[in-house]
Amino acid sequence: MGTRFSVAVVTAGNFDRERLRTRIHATLDDVDRLMSTYRPDAELAMFNRATITDWFPVSLRLCHAVDNALQLSDLSGGAFDITVGSLVDLWGFGPGGARTEPPDRESIDDARAASGFRKLHADCTKPALRKDHAGLRVDLSGYAKGLAVDEIAALLDESGVQNYLAEIGGELRASGHNVSGDKWRIAIEWPDLSGDDAEMIIRISDLAVATSGDYRNFFQYEGRRYSHTIDPRTGSPVAHELASVTVLAGSTAYADGMATALLVLGPLAGPEFAETQEIAAHFLLRRNGEILRQSSSQFALLTND
Ligand code: FAD
Repeated sequence: MGTRFSVAVVTAGNFDRERLRTRIHATLDDVDRLMSTYRPDAELAMFNRATITDWFPVSLRLCHAVDNALQLSDLSGGAFDITVGSLVDLWGFGPGGARTEPPDRESIDDARAASGFRKLHADCTKPALRKDHAGLRVDLSGYAKGLAVDEIAALLDESGVQNYLAEIGGELRASGHNVSGDKWRIAIEWPDLSGDDAEMIIRISDLAVATSGDYRNFFQYEGRRYSHTIDPRTGSPVAHELASVTVLAGSTAYADGMATALLVLGPLAGPEFAETQEIAAHFLLRRNGEILRQSSSQFALLTND
């Protein structure tokens, strides 16, 4: 998935480490084979290439992933939108390669016309996907890493492992306790990567954590930062003071998608939405050369031990 993963397991008893390792690799390979936009033979890449607007048969796993992601789009009023694929590529954040300056308005408008979550449909009784616009491209990069963490967690649960930390590219699930018998200690990153200081350390158990930010994947043009999170309303990268959003939740896929949604919603609507929906979220904002922090009540509740 273009990133690293790690799984730490704490167990007093015997367990078949090699078997678990093989099954974890197989799970990750499956997600990549089904949901990648970076490999042409992935099921999702084939759906994206298809120019038909009829039902396109897919695996039940991909269908459920898309269906659940569409529900998150609905919940977030379209701030999280997996149909931004053409826009992500246009802005140079997809498999097509990077760019160093913004695209022209006409190309943005064309790519916007080919996106919009209401133009994508999933019927998992078939199972199949359908798009209303032949050029629509689905991008699960803001969701499928979280989903893969949930699948690994399910695998560990089913194998009788109770204490673990499973992580893919920063999206993670912590279950039970660490090797010292305490809650897992998770660092929330400082959003400029200048030092190795963490913004904060949280202590959690049986929770998922995901962060979306503008400080890892971006280009700068004429003094402005263009990052990989696209605001579906404008078809352009988000342009506001929010530098990162961290979400805690029961499901990693939900936390992954919701962190992107809150980042799109911005420094005013994001915290408001988190409060009304009782989402545990921590926001870092850049203002006048400083980093400001803001947490939702639910975040304070879950991290206050
Ligand atoms: P997140 O904040 O979790 O997600 C941001 C990403 O979501 C953006 O990069 C964009 O793709 C998408 N997005 C942008 N705006 C929105 C929006 N409004 N709503 C919904 N989504 C949005 N990268 C590689 O370089 N090589 C690979 O081979 C590769 N393979 C992958 C295979 C899979 C199955 C997946 C899921 C991802 C793969 N990636 C690959 C992508 C890489 O992992 C991404 O950089 C990463 O998923 C982005 O995650 P993040 O945590 O940085 O950002």
